[in-house]
Amino acid sequence: MVHKYAIIINADDLDEAVEETAHLLYFLLGRALQEHRRRHAEECDFEEFALEALALLLKYRQAYTNPPPPPSPSDEDTAL
Ligand SMILES: [Zn+2]
Repeated sequence: MVHKYAIIINADDLDEAVEETAHLLYFLLGRALQEHRRRHAEECDFEEFALEALALLLKYRQAYTNPPPPPSPSDEDTAL
């Protein structure tokens, strides 16, 4: 049997694995919620779960996202 979704997380350490998984979950949940609402207009446990999980993932995004490298001086020149 061929699965439509095969999820592989490549990470060098646990923190990175959590980060990648969280980003992926955020993306998939957003898509799933959109799909769900097309078929199911009434509010339900899935919708409540999806909305709360999305809000939580968004709220703590900085906590599980590894900080990007500091901008180089040339980037700062062009930022404004
Ligand atoms: Zn529903």
